[in-house]
Amino acid sequence: MAVQTRVLVTGAGGFIGHHLVSFLKKKGCWVRGVDIKEPEFCKTDADDFIVLDLRWRENCVRATHDIDEVYALAADMGGMGFIQSNNARILHNNSLININTLDSARQNGVKRYFYTSSACIYPLYLQKETNVTPLKEDDAYPALPEDAYGWEKLVTERLCMHYTQDYGMQTRVVRFHNIFGPQGTWTGGREKAPAALCRKIANAKLSGNREIEMWGDGEQTRSFCYIDDCLEGIFRLMRSDHHEPLNLGQDRMVTINELAYMIAKIAGIEITIKHIDGPQGVRGRNSDNTKLRQVLGWEPSISLEDGLAKTYAWIEEQVKVSSEK
Ligand code: NAD
Repeated sequence: MAVQTRVLVTGAGGFIGHHLVSFLKKKGCWVRGVDIKEPEFCKTDADDFIVLDLRWRENCVRATHDIDEVYALAADMGGMGFIQSNNARILHNNSLININTLDSARQNGVKRYFYTSSACIYPLYLQKETNVTPLKEDDAYPALPEDAYGWEKLVTERLCMHYTQDYGMQTRVVRFHNIFGPQGTWTGGREKAPAALCRKIANAKLSGNREIEMWGDGEQTRSFCYIDDCLEGIFRLMRSDHHEPLNLGQDRMVTINELAYMIAKIAGIEITIKHIDGPQGVRGRNSDNTKLRQVLGWEPSISLEDGLAKTYAWIEEQVKVSSEK
């Protein structure tokens, strides 16, 4: 009988981590999930789920014990509102989580380590226009991320690189571009633009008040990648021999206004947008997927419309249930 790969997913109580646990179970792995909290929306599929605070080394040593491969997703994070107003906390907590998880994995002889970085590492000076040139992996330097969240991600990318050079540890590093889907945070202040807009539009539909508020003029641009494509990309990168950072996202850029009107169309209502002051992040961002295609022989293909339809349906249900409480 083939020996099952024993994997650890950190951040397994969060959006991507929870989905990744289910995905890896279907691939036949034995999965341990670790997070500071249980998954919020449905039970985990993990063989073993431990609630641990990964800022502390002894917890990281316990989490990585008897594990072949680590998928490191745990992070203190959220949407722009959270990221821009919690720089000290984010740099402090995520540095501790990542330094301790990576070094405990080394100590415990983990064979492969997957680190989830972000498009937020890219320099501010390349993202000043709405009609931006898509970002290539090499654009990361000279470095100038906008917030502490991006700086910390960049330092941990480098830590992975040095653990490979100095200790021979196999590391894989992905830079996600706006992943969205069902069972992600949709309220409470840490939600990101797609989830926040789905919630606002569901509220507009259910209340009859068709005006929604949006931070900024809505002309800022992004690309968005559906969770199922993200999971496939993670798996393919982990199995590849590529040990440098790789973009993982869609390369179809839309404005946040366009995103809102797409969701309203899915909801079957007409909305008006009231633009208010608020954190917006960089003016424009898109993923250059040239290297992704070369390395993985694949790229995300689920359309934004299809992904949003599934996400909106789930969030509308959450809004209905919470308004009945
Ligand atoms: P998430 O917030 O849903 O998941 C992160 C999880 O980490 C949470 O469940 C949280 O409780 C856990 N965590 C925080 N502090 C912890 C601690 N001290 N100990 C243990 N667990 C702790 O976020 P997500 O969207 O699932 O993101 C997963 C990873 O991907 C993160 O590293 C994030 O920075 C990265 N990422 C996500 C996106 C995106 O669009 N969702 C984009 C770029 C990068």
